[in-house]
Amino acid sequence: MKDTNIDQFIKKTIRFDIQKQDTYPMSFDGDFIKLDAMESPYELPNHVMAEIANSIKKISLNRYPVSSGKPIEELKSAIRESFEIPDEAEMIFGNGSDELISLIIQSCCSPGDFIISPWPSFIYFEIAAKIHHTVLVKVSLQQDLQIDLLAMLKAIREFKPKVIFLALPNNPTGGLWSRDTVIEILNQAPGLVVLDEAYQAFTKQTWMQDIMQFDNVLILRTLSKIGFAGLRFGYLTGPAQWLEQINKVRPPYNMSTLTQTVLSTVLNHRSFINVHISAILNARNWLISSLRRLSGLYIFPTYGNFVLVRFSQEINADEIYIFLRKKNILVRNFSKYHPLLDNCLRISVGTSEDNALFIKVLEEIMLNLTN
Ligand SMILES: *Cc1c(COP(=O)(O)O)cnc(C)c1O
Repeated sequence: MKDTNIDQFIKKTIRFDIQKQDTYPMSFDGDFIKLDAMESPYELPNHVMAEIANSIKKISLNRYPVSSGKPIEELKSAIRESFEIPDEAEMIFGNGSDELISLIIQSCCSPGDFIISPWPSFIYFEIAAKIHHTVLVKVSLQQDLQIDLLAMLKAIREFKPKVIFLALPNNPTGGLWSRDTVIEILNQAPGLVVLDEAYQAFTKQTWMQDIMQFDNVLILRTLSKIGFAGLRFGYLTGPAQWLEQINKVRPPYNMSTLTQTVLSTVLNHRSFINVHISAILNARNWLISSLRRLSGLYIFPTYGNFVLVRFSQEINADEIYIFLRKKNILVRNFSKYHPLLDNCLRISVGTSEDNALFIKVLEEIMLNLTN
């Protein structure tokens, strides 16, 4: 009885488009070998965990987090140094870069405004656009999953987007757009262009050193893919005037005292971060060369800590996905997500052991399927 009442209230109260919307596809719980969410497979070193434990002992959880002044300036300097951000670039912090994506749209777009992104790309661009009543114009990638520059420029002329999101490298395809292509887009954009460098650490190519040369470009980064997905921390950087505006819609105290404390401790002991990134890059090379030795699949070029694989027609990617899951290996199934990703699975790079097990199981499945 009570439930039907709740349902009635919800039906007439919650936005109709939200009622119809799917929930964000979160990763499965369980004891899986997780090759599905581009997390770093490496835990923090023990001595860093010990420092974190120590630093947390000193915080005052009864107080609101510090949100300006010396501690925040110190955190900014540590981030600047750690991630080579130019001195002139200002930054704001988000509870993950997902939050910053949402704040960018909120501060730039009124209902009905247009946003453009090449597509398929990061799924949260679409979710955030919908939540804020804006329209994401998805400009299809080419068949080879490269960006279609002419189609992008045409869409820019036609829709005059408030915001353009470019994920560099792109998720879930792994591709990276050339400098000339990005420059063309920047030159034609009538509004803001956000370069989402979530996977920058795995390519070394970055727009960060050029950021202050443009009037309408911001760079978005996250720590999630380099070892801190659980921390929920991202930053948006670029000219102060832009960030001052976007900062107005940021919820007060969106970065907890815990996050601030852990982050500054981690950055004080940051040498392990690059060690882990190098290990992931080595593991990626091994994974790619092992996949190349299998027949019946195509590996798209990747600049991230993941590989998009397309299986040939005789092989059903859904079956592979389910079989892997039965063997406790979790990858991400994109085979029905978009026609351009037909029969594709995305595999995040794990530890050498995880990757070796994945290849072994995949080999078995493919043998079974083709026999
Ligand atoms: C994972 C990802 C993010 C989100 O990162 P969080 O900081 O964990 O919210 C942003 N952009 C792209 C392209 C991603 O793949």
